Amino acid sequence: MYERAKTVEKLSLYVDGQWRPASNQSYFDSVDPYTGQVWSQVPSATAEDVDVAVRAAHRAFTSGPWAEMTPTHRGRLLYRLGDLIAANAEKLGELEVRDNGKLLAEMLGQMRYLPEWFYYYGGLADKIEGSVTPAERPGVTHFIRYEPIGVVAAISPWNSPLVLTVWKLAPALAAGNTVVVKPSEYSSASMLYLAKLFDEAGFPPGVINVITGIGRETGDALVNHPLIDRIAFTGGEAGGRAVYQAAAKSFKRVSLELGGKSPNIVFEDAHLEDAVKGAVAGIFAAAGQTCMAGSRLLVQDTIYDAFVERLVAFAGSAKLGDPMQADTDIGPIATPPQFQKIMDYIEVAKAGGATCVLGGERATGPGLDTGLFVKPTIFTNVTNDMRIAQEEVFGPILSIIKFRTEDEAVQIANDTAYGLAAGIWTQDLDRAINLPARLRAGTVWVNAYRVVSYLAPFGGFKNSGIGRENGKEAIREYLEAKSVFINTKRGVPSPFVMRLPSVEQG
Ligand code: NAD
Repeated sequence: MYERAKTVEKLSLYVDGQWRPASNQSYFDSVDPYTGQVWSQVPSATAEDVDVAVRAAHRAFTSGPWAEMTPTHRGRLLYRLGDLIAANAEKLGELEVRDNGKLLAEMLGQMRYLPEWFYYYGGLADKIEGSVTPAERPGVTHFIRYEPIGVVAAISPWNSPLVLTVWKLAPALAAGNTVVVKPSEYSSASMLYLAKLFDEAGFPPGVINVITGIGRETGDALVNHPLIDRIAFTGGEAGGRAVYQAAAKSFKRVSLELGGKSPNIVFEDAHLEDAVKGAVAGIFAAAGQTCMAGSRLLVQDTIYDAFVERLVAFAGSAKLGDPMQADTDIGPIATPPQFQKIMDYIEVAKAGGATCVLGGERATGPGLDTGLFVKPTIFTNVTNDMRIAQEEVFGPILSIIKFRTEDEAVQIANDTAYGLAAGIWTQDLDRAINLPARLRAGTVWVNAYRVVSYLAPFGGFKNSGIGRENGKEAIREYLEAKSVFINTKRGVPSPFVMRLPSVEQG
């Protein structure tokens, strides 16, 4: 039985290698979504704190040990950080659960996998190779070198706080940038704990800074700071739009990882038991609070009734409860505004004409009354033009849509403003190979769902974002290409052709 600490921890900002409170000494509460109790107090960084952090990162970028460090040495620091995360995985996972209420099993899995990002990008640090182009002019050598962009602002959401920050941090550091991280106001603790490991790993002061605070205040001050060169943002549409507009003002480089309304498509030739599990994992894992949630389930008409029956029975068997306990399947909703949004969307679905065949209400009872729980909810008779099929809920709400042919499935799947991910359940080899190319989404899974890897670029088409994280592609997103021309031939021609002495004399 897991025992939660009773004391309320007061956290500090991590700036230029030092721990400090916010300049105006203000804090906000972080609430454990399961107990409903305040468990930590988080500093609310002011614009002045943001300025100090960005200037520290700028100093570390332009001079000092980090600026002079070889890429191989940088890579070794990333390796060491990976080892320290592995040694502290349980603590980090526990902190995340206290902040966002996701299952400990899932957060532990994430934390144990997290070092791979530092090993992969640590290894890549000294393999960022430029190139020499073929000679095009006599005596002129041209080569391309890749250089870090500068100071990166890394802004992350609450649903997978460390994973989504590390997707930015590891490639940004491997490429030689410095970073100011702003975690979500709902989940700052794990990032601040990670900051303790930066020192231990040997990162010089100022290379990584962590400031905490509200998005529209601290986050806004960060993305508008003139010394920020690159913004890496994961979050919702409103925040993403604000960040993109702020970046546009001074042409800051930007990547955005935003929301989704991903289709999970079940064909009649699917392995049905796997497809049921995949549909449930796609939407009810993490109580649907994941950007890649398979929130639109497209089921072929020939298997529709039997499939929905099995799905409802399986989803209905989920055990809701304390996310720290190993036998819990679904934990609480992370925040009161998120809970309210989900409840509102249940009404939107009903008003739109969808039929609720499972859940559709708050779950209460023993072990469920301190937190905000929503029963796994399934709507049938959904058409793709309904709001419940078009708008991101970020909760345990599944909309099922019937289709007849593969062409119709493709048309429905792509008929959305988003394009983050898609799932296909089929045993037909041709379909498994050919269909992914027809789906307008950054990731397509066949007979799987919610698989990510440090090796695999992740990001969205359309409104789901700009740019890619993970894999070799991601490191390019933290580099500038520079062309260098070297002329080895003496006797540079005069730019003023008509007044060349030889011409005048001749
Ligand atoms: P959010 O946009 O409210 O907040 C995300 C982060 O942005 C937080 O740190 C917040 O403080 C900050 N922020 C908000 N407004 C800002 C502003 N104006 N300027 C600067 N910073 C600002 O999102 P959330 O509620 O924390 O997370 C849920 C959303 O994130 C969902 O839409 C989900 O789909 C998306 N998400 C996307 C991915 C992905 O990889 N595509 C992954 C996880 C979550």
